[in-house]
Amino acid sequence: MRKKGLVLKFMSNMALVEDIETGKVFICKLRGKFKEQGIRPIVGDFVEYRHIVGNEGIVENILNRKNELKRPRVANIDQVVIVTSLKRPEVPLKILDRYLVLVENVKIPAVIVLNKCDLLSREEIDVFLSIYSKMYPVFLVSAKNRMGIDKLVEVFKDKVSTMAGMSGVGKSSILNAINPGLSLKVGEISKKLDRGKHTTTVIELLKFDFGGWIADTPGFASLDISEVESEELKNYFPEFSNFLCLYPDCNHIHEPECGIKRAVEDGLIAKSRYESYFEMFHELLEGN
Ligand code: GDP
Repeated sequence: MRKKGLVLKFMSNMALVEDIETGKVFICKLRGKFKEQGIRPIVGDFVEYRHIVGNEGIVENILNRKNELKRPRVANIDQVVIVTSLKRPEVPLKILDRYLVLVENVKIPAVIVLNKCDLLSREEIDVFLSIYSKMYPVFLVSAKNRMGIDKLVEVFKDKVSTMAGMSGVGKSSILNAINPGLSLKVGEISKKLDRGKHTTTVIELLKFDFGGWIADTPGFASLDISEVESEELKNYFPEFSNFLCLYPDCNHIHEPECGIKRAVEDGLIAKSRYESYFEMFHELLEGN
């Protein structure tokens, strides 16, 4: 009988598959026809597998992928949780805007976590919320004093997630706070990867004790936006869709009667967001 499973990881040519119903993990061979057809399951794939004996099985069919991230290569991601901080380190808003554009480009829902809120004043937090909370779910967190941690558990529960965010913003601390023991595993794995710089990256979906999975490698580490179409960029700023321009194909740069530029002047679109757009637009033009 074929059962449904989720591919957690690969070990040489075997896939570690978690049974969707029982949560038991099976070491599965891949069916020969995959090789003939030049296809291969990836981490995050939902597959049909057949149990053989003990904890062994065989992957027989790959179910349709709803999406696929390239780096790390993971399928069927429900959300990208972008972690950022405004102090220690002070991550510039334009870096957060780049992450958001990259996530919009792969058409996966984005969630923003502002960590290290213990270091911020109410006013600093409010300014941040006024920019982002209309477009994205924003969670105010301090991994250090566990502020907002219970809410984050709800965010991750029963979903396949990837984290993103600069080094030092507290990604491992957050994972450790929501599921003690998990980040230790993350740390061990990244250490292994650091040692073997030339080995190919091994990705793994880690299971939360409360349900749900997280890729052990953060996504979008390079922050490279060159795969974004310059014409598409404006669609990746959700707040722009609330305003009309004289030209329907307006790029909001030099065109007259641009609703976006007016909205920035009127304080209806955050200046920092427009500046991020302007910078990325020119970067993409120069790259072409
Ligand atoms: P990562 O590189 O994103 O995984 O960041 P880490 O989890 O390693 O955290 C980097 C540093 O920030 C560590 O020294 C943490 O103790 C510290 N840190 C993490 N979360 C918080 C927080 O909410 N508040 C404060 N003040 N420090 C934090």
